[in-house]
Amino acid sequence: MSYVSRMCARLLVPSAWPLVAALLVAMAAKALSDLPVASGGAPVWPDLPGLLVLLGVGASTLYYLVQMVRLLRWQRGHGDSCYVCGCLLGRETQGRRGTYRRCLGCGKPHSS
Ligand SMILES: [Zn+2]
Repeated sequence: MSYVSRMCARLLVPSAWPLVAALLVAMAAKALSDLPVASGGAPVWPDLPGLLVLLGVGASTLYYLVQMVRLLRWQRGHGDSCYVCGCLLGRETQGRRGTYRRCLGCGKPHSS
């Protein structure tokens, strides 16, 4: 796996987490909503699982678009990049020796 593909994976894979979380919450909401159905009643919240999935799709899409804009800016030479491999730098983090940003490709820390 090259540094660039590792950087793309680190940028884009987390955009699926809101959808996965929304699917899990929607499954739980569906199970809770259908509890009265077993005793002959109607579902309590029939539209809630679908709305939760839509919310997850929206959040994942928004996160994906933000990360793609970062990737496109990096392709055009904007933004901070690693001096070792040239990949994008991650978010600023507080460490023992001050603030630093970790490279999304090679993983090396860069002080900022
Ligand atoms: Zn690097």
